[in-house]
Amino acid sequence: MKRIAVTGGAGFLGSHLCERLLKEGNYVISIDNFFTGLKENIYHLKDNANFEIIRHDITEPMHIECDEIYNFACPASPIHYQRNPVHTFKTSVLGILNMLDLARNCGAKILQASTSEVYGDPLEHPQNESYWGHVNPNGIRSCYDEGKRGAETLMMDYHRKYNTDIKIIRIFNTYGPRMNENDGRVVSNFVIQALKNIPITVYGDGSQTRSFCYCEDLIDGAVKMMNSENFIGPVNLGNPFEITVLEFAETIIKMTNSKSEIVFKDLPKDDPVKRQPDIRLAQEKLNWSPKYKLEDGLKKTIEYFDNYLKRK
Ligand code: NAD
Ligand code: UDP
Repeated sequence: MKRIAVTGGAGFLGSHLCERLLKEGNYVISIDNFFTGLKENIYHLKDNANFEIIRHDITEPMHIECDEIYNFACPASPIHYQRNPVHTFKTSVLGILNMLDLARNCGAKILQASTSEVYGDPLEHPQNESYWGHVNPNGIRSCYDEGKRGAETLMMDYHRKYNTDIKIIRIFNTYGPRMNENDGRVVSNFVIQALKNIPITVYGDGSQTRSFCYCEDLIDGAVKMMNSENFIGPVNLGNPFEITVLEFAETIIKMTNSKSEIVFKDLPKDDPVKRQPDIRLAQEKLNWSPKYKLEDGLKKTIEYFDNYLKRK
């Protein structure tokens, strides 16, 4: 049985990852400071004898025994990562430093949840792993983008200097059940607005694009990456199906039979114009491609938020 630490284990993706790793028969330790994570995301796992919950902020050092570390701790939505930008930066940089020291001390393999944001507002389209990005170093998204870039630097330097066993995944917009209701992301915002029949807030003219990956596909890719041989990444994980934000709003209105109208609001600063992953590397090295079509993943997400809103 492997002992696996998941930082950010009470978050949206972390909780799905804990669930998956437990199902595979591992001993799983969730490490989270509950900044955006919720106890209810992992409540159903609490009686599992192979599951442990540690309340801890990864900007502080820690010592536990483990074989693998998935570093998923970090607020991921612009509203949340901009709430305390200094702490976001520390979570990415000091957090990965502490986790790399932990990996070194106990000889564990470590996987970093990096992001498509390392490409910034990309000048190449679609983005592949060899593109170095187009990132504002001092804007309102920089605490997240540059923090994640710094974390990749530390991962690679520990690998080169100390031979630490590392893996880097670059996650593109991922959605699904247990997204935080208040994190202001486009999928949760639009689904909740549509279900409540209140106006759907499209920022800008809605011509910017995103490519949405369902959480189950993403977790599958992350686990495949951790278990891969002779491949450290970075590797893009995401769904290449690209859609404008306006088309996305229309899709959600249709799927929920909503009476919501679309209203246009100011575009946030530094909002990337286009985003689409080139996933050929993941296909080749991990034999991974997303299985969920957008409408199939959205169906499950709408169902989740519908039940969630009825429970509240
Ligand atoms: P989330 O906000 O739901 O989860 C993040 C978790 O990390 C939360 O449980 C939070 O409480 C915890 N956390 C934050 N700071 C911490 C700290 N200093 N110490 C300990 N715990 C801390 O976000 P998510 O969408 O599940 O994202 C998980 C990871 O995946 C993040 O690293 C994020 O950058 C990355 N990612 C996500 C997406 C996406 O579309 N969801 C895209 C790219 C990258
Ligand atoms: N967006 C929007 N309305 C919302 C929330 C987001 O139009 O209520 C837009 C946002 O400006 C961006 C896209 O949707 O262009 C995706 O935003 P999100 O915050 O989900 O992720 P990110 O910008 O990090 O990809």
